[in-house]
Amino acid sequence: MNKIKYYFASMLFLFGAMAIAQEEEESKEEREPGHYNQSRFKQMYEEFATPNTYRSASGAPGPDYYQQRADYDMNIELDDKNAKIYGEETITYFNNSPDNLEFLWVQLDQNVRSKDSKSPLRNGNGVNIAYTTGNFANTYVTEPFDGGFNIEYVKDANGRPLSYTINQTMMRLNIPQPLKSGEQISFSIKWWYNINDHVNGRGRSGYEYFPKDGNRAYVIAQFFPRMAVYSDVEGWQNHQFWGSGEFALPFGNYNVSITVPADHILDATGVLQNRKEVFSKEMMKRYETAKKTYDKPVIIVTQQEAEAAEKGFSEKKKTWKFKATNVRDYGFATSRKFIWDMQAVKIGNKDVMAVSLYPKEGNPLWEEQSTKAVAQTLETYSKHTFDYPYHKAISVHAKNQGMEYPMICWNYGRPNEDGTYSDRTKYGMISVIIHEVGHNFFPMIVNSDERQWGWMDEGLDTFMQYLTEQEFGKKYPTVIAPNDAYPSRRGAPSKMVPYMSGDQSHISPIMSNPENVYQLGPNAYGKPATALNILRETVMGKELFDHAFKTYAQRWKFKHPTPEDFFRTMEDASAVDLDWYWRGWFYTTDYVDIGVKGVKKYYVTNKPTKEMEKYMADRNLTEADLPPLVYLAEEDSEDFSPELKGKSPTETSQNLREFMMDNMTEAERAKVKEPKYFYEITFDKPGGIPMPLIVEYTYADGSKENITYPAEIWRKNDAEVKRVVSSQKELVGIVVDPKLETADIDTANNSWPIKEEKSDFDKFKENIKG
Ligand SMILES: [Zn+2]
Repeated sequence: MNKIKYYFASMLFLFGAMAIAQEEEESKEEREPGHYNQSRFKQMYEEFATPNTYRSASGAPGPDYYQQRADYDMNIELDDKNAKIYGEETITYFNNSPDNLEFLWVQLDQNVRSKDSKSPLRNGNGVNIAYTTGNFANTYVTEPFDGGFNIEYVKDANGRPLSYTINQTMMRLNIPQPLKSGEQISFSIKWWYNINDHVNGRGRSGYEYFPKDGNRAYVIAQFFPRMAVYSDVEGWQNHQFWGSGEFALPFGNYNVSITVPADHILDATGVLQNRKEVFSKEMMKRYETAKKTYDKPVIIVTQQEAEAAEKGFSEKKKTWKFKATNVRDYGFATSRKFIWDMQAVKIGNKDVMAVSLYPKEGNPLWEEQSTKAVAQTLETYSKHTFDYPYHKAISVHAKNQGMEYPMICWNYGRPNEDGTYSDRTKYGMISVIIHEVGHNFFPMIVNSDERQWGWMDEGLDTFMQYLTEQEFGKKYPTVIAPNDAYPSRRGAPSKMVPYMSGDQSHISPIMSNPENVYQLGPNAYGKPATALNILRETVMGKELFDHAFKTYAQRWKFKHPTPEDFFRTMEDASAVDLDWYWRGWFYTTDYVDIGVKGVKKYYVTNKPTKEMEKYMADRNLTEADLPPLVYLAEEDSEDFSPELKGKSPTETSQNLREFMMDNMTEAERAKVKEPKYFYEITFDKPGGIPMPLIVEYTYADGSKENITYPAEIWRKNDAEVKRVVSSQKELVGIVVDPKLETADIDTANNSWPIKEEKSDFDKFKENIKG
């Protein structure tokens, strides 16, 4: 390239879009150091684990992917009078890993409630502004509750005692020889513990006591010693259960017998094996009807029957037997207070039962809404992921609860004592049911590590919850929100603004352990759900997003994915580079704030501008050294002269006129629409997260034009970018993110001209006039 052409090339870049940019020339400038800041768009090689033969770079399981398996054979007995639970279990553990294991880790989650638990000692907060009475009593007045495991024995397959060591909520089995790769081992544990009151003591499991009739309703989970996960990512996932970070569990098959008072109604994870023994003839008949009823729930145990049972306190026992295949956990609910309803839902070519269990205290709300919400969840989630693979999904009413297990979950939403309820109670209840039933997909089937990554199940589930709520709202229109939309608490971008713009010292990145975050709700639920919503609606588009999201669910169902498996699959299946998005939304506490900073108006001229004259003088160039050029003169500069105004470019630029004569036919020239107005618009980005620049331009005739510049517009300048708009019509207004799609925390800088916020006094005056 000769010298003059080199100058010319540099100059073209200098003038950017205003000149006739040539992309191949531009690439040279990009290499100059310090010219641009690409760190927000840097690929995530440093943050992401290196792909390997267990986990592929595509985000799919690799050729050597393995997972462990744990089968359970359990006999459980509930002592309702004394609120104790007893269990004997045999665990068969399959070592599918390539490693020989010198010891095994078993989780004893109930030890978080043992008298000497360190969990309450880990908080350093001082005096609260106020205490609930129950909380105050538990903290300062009553004896600490002893709800830890009492381990009676641990035995090997031959009945010989097996040595073990308990470290808080983890138990190490000191097996005599290493469990070799490909081998399996069986051992038995006998245990019991005191069941806690989950309403007053808080907890994901326990009983609620009803003083009026003297009954308890139990929702029981984390109740048996459970195998920890051993994987290619963590080795043993044996982080203690402190209380916030939930669970990591391997899949397996369960064979469970649960003995309870004979007048209890019980449901649990798994297929009931002895229905005829535990159901009355009337219940069997109703059950057969329910299996063929797709449009509404069929009552299996009526409120009248439940109210009669409440008075019984039978001394007899009944054993309910279940088998569950390929589940990661086990839970059950039992009480003589339970009303029971169910209906069939078609999922793919299979029937699934949507089921609800609730005491009379849940009615009339529960019989009206619960099973309907379960059915909607199975339909919407299946559409976006995979067909729900289990035969039932149960929603159990338990005060203040919102907790999930395979096929069964506990949900809040209690009407007032007279049976009336607010919209808040009703929609809160429907939402929690959708959320907890939805957890069957994430993490019960797409089995992520909850102890390490709260957002992988909570965030994905809350995102899917939003889609399901909106579909539920369409099917059963509400009357409380605009356009009858379902009043979703989380999902809309604007709802995340208060959190993301809040005190930075109390915000953690989404990619944090749940024990270490300040505000778990927005951190693990709201923000990731919003991030996925924006990704779907604004960044990727529904079609690309939905395909990629479904690909992730299908690749990892009944497996153990990591965050990288999710991030990589979303890119792999869509051809959208999202590293910048994961970095901004998931790895930082940055927020979105994009605005319009200034607008300059230009007209076409043939006369070199002052800047161009200086450029030529500096390089000893004359116009004769350069090819024919066109210049844009800014209205508020010395380059401007009034006669340029209102003219078309060919009238004010002889060079352009000649170019068109030389290169275009008369017919082509006749069709040309010449822009009369040129604007250079400066957009700025006070927020850290780069986002698509969504702009609505309004012209003098009232017409609007919407342009979305991809987020990559910020790749070379993180603070400020410029766009040139040419038009035949005068530009009168600019709005950034007009539909509030991006969670922009400050919309005061989103408009040009700046919208004057009316003072209260002005509004007051208007009201008087009106
Ligand atoms: Zn959840």
